[in-house]
Amino acid sequence: MTEELYCIGCGALLQSTNSTQPGYVPASALQKFATADDHELYCQRCFRLRHYNEITPVSFADDFFQKLLKNIGREDALVVYVVDVFNFAGSVIPDLQKYIRHNPLLVVGNKTDLLPKSYKKTKVKTWLQQQVQQIGLKPLATTLVSAKKLTQVDELLRKIDSLRKGRNVYIIGATNVGKSTLINAIIKARSDFPALITTSNFPGTTLNEIHIGLDDGSDLIDTPGVIHDGQIANLLDPKELKYIAPQAEIHPRIFQLNPGQTLFLAGLGRLDFIAGEPGSFIAYVENNLYVHRTKLANADQFYRQHVGELLQPPHLNTDLPPLVGQEFNLTTKSDIIFSGLGWISVPANVQVKAYLPTGITLETRQALI
Ligand code: GDP
Repeated sequence: MTEELYCIGCGALLQSTNSTQPGYVPASALQKFATADDHELYCQRCFRLRHYNEITPVSFADDFFQKLLKNIGREDALVVYVVDVFNFAGSVIPDLQKYIRHNPLLVVGNKTDLLPKSYKKTKVKTWLQQQVQQIGLKPLATTLVSAKKLTQVDELLRKIDSLRKGRNVYIIGATNVGKSTLINAIIKARSDFPALITTSNFPGTTLNEIHIGLDDGSDLIDTPGVIHDGQIANLLDPKELKYIAPQAEIHPRIFQLNPGQTLFLAGLGRLDFIAGEPGSFIAYVENNLYVHRTKLANADQFYRQHVGELLQPPHLNTDLPPLVGQEFNLTTKSDIIFSGLGWISVPANVQVKAYLPTGITLETRQALI
């Protein structure tokens, strides 16, 4: 019988079967351990935390994460929830309000640099406020930043300072929303004032947090990112991801469409224009993502023939769930949001059908731009 081993950092039972679950350690490391003299074995997460200051993501269902959120709810702390303005659906942490209870909440919409320069800040902010309300959150404030371009980070820090009132500050977010980039931006922004911030890690805690000391003795606490199961990013490999995750300002691509035409967002998304007056359909997606216009009548066959080749990503050998469609009748100028890919703005009074791989969220909103 194999001996049960426990991580000496967090106490989790060590296992080599599921890297998103507690206590994961690669099988090779376990084997090495069996023949070594030293009897201290860390799970991969604690190992990374100790050696690289890195917090590895966990899934919503992970005990670690639920325990962490519950503990935040028991403490009197300010919660800073980071979301990606380009992919709100992929930023959602289910039941967040239930966990953080009465703690004050600040929502940070990150990656504003991806939006076309012409975007209206108040419009984006209002939309974000509606989104967070819809998922049951009651933030004290909502703020927009670009962690990458360091835009509005000072303003965010001022807001954090005014809301925290000497309390600890927890930064939480789903993976890929830019939480690590934001923490680094915060550290950078404060590094002119060494008295204000000192980085120190407390490895080996059960909750895998990184604590950054604040001037008054409280901490800014970086928590593990949570993997969002419904993200299109989870279906693709890193090479494919490059084609969908925008790194710079998006240049809108305008298509004059007639009813009976279809747009493919490479092989990952599709929009059929079923009925309405001819008009402008504007794609806000990664600048290098291939957008193909074709006839609706042939679109199914076209997809079958070209997915993985002309319509790429996905690659031919990627096991993508089938595209599923949803119809929308839109009376005002709207955006169809293809979560993780971007959106297509459509004119008023159209009937359209939008498609994404099974399990990925489709949404609409009043046109944002
Ligand atoms: P985390 O998983 O939430 O910690 O996210 P990361 O900080 O690792 O960022 C995920 C991806 O988003 C990386 O490719 C970052 O370069 C990118 N990213 C993060 N912040 C921004 C931002 O403000 N603007 C843009 N354009 N990209 C960002």
